[in-house]
Amino acid sequence: MTNDDPERHKSKMGKRKAVQDAEVASKTIEKGLLIVNTGPGKGKTTAAMGLALRALGYGWKIGIVQFIKGAWNTGERAALEKFGNLVTFEALGEGFTWNTQDKARDIAACGKSWEIAKALMNDPKVRLLILDELNIALRYDYLPLDDVVATLAARRPELHIVVTGRNAKPEMIAIADTVTEMAAVKHHFAAGVKTQIGIEH
Ligand code: ATP
Ligand code: MG
Repeated sequence: MTNDDPERHKSKMGKRKAVQDAEVASKTIEKGLLIVNTGPGKGKTTAAMGLALRALGYGWKIGIVQFIKGAWNTGERAALEKFGNLVTFEALGEGFTWNTQDKARDIAACGKSWEIAKALMNDPKVRLLILDELNIALRYDYLPLDDVVATLAARRPELHIVVTGRNAKPEMIAIADTVTEMAAVKHHFAAGVKTQIGIEH
């Protein structure tokens, strides 16, 4: 028999499947996850929107709160609006921008967004909540870290939350279930390619 032998392949794969099945069966905990997408590479918000799509596929109600304004008149917003009342976007559409340079206004806007986030956390119909760029608001001390971390940690047991943004605080990472660091292996901006509609927003 050679390595390419179909019988040998079948038996090898059968064994591998048995190991995998046992591994999967050993994971029995059911819980609402806190997922953090951080790091300098592209894909943090995109990945969160992918989860929104997955959740909507099951007819779940979801909430999305943005903590930074800017490129948020986006394809995903227009697309998700088609799901009607299954999707709640942060109603005020505020959050801070790099343009205001008005710290007091930005803190107030983040505070409002955080209040909306908490209301969505307390809405038992919402099963997935995306807090886009929350890490940035925390990095600039626009929200009290202790309060945010304690509130997220005390979420309803079945609620999944996704937090995005570079430079996740260690305290955020500590309470998260899954943390993904996007690495910037290469980005088209570096080659002078401008923001691409449908890809960046
Ligand atoms: P996306 O929304 O595309 O998933 P992101 O959420 O990972 O990106 P942010 O830090 O929110 O990244 O930055 C948003 C914008 O910055 C996007 O237009 C994205 O393409 C761009 N961007 C992300 N990573 C890089 C990078 N390493 N260099 C330059 N621009 C970047
Ligand atoms: Mg982002």
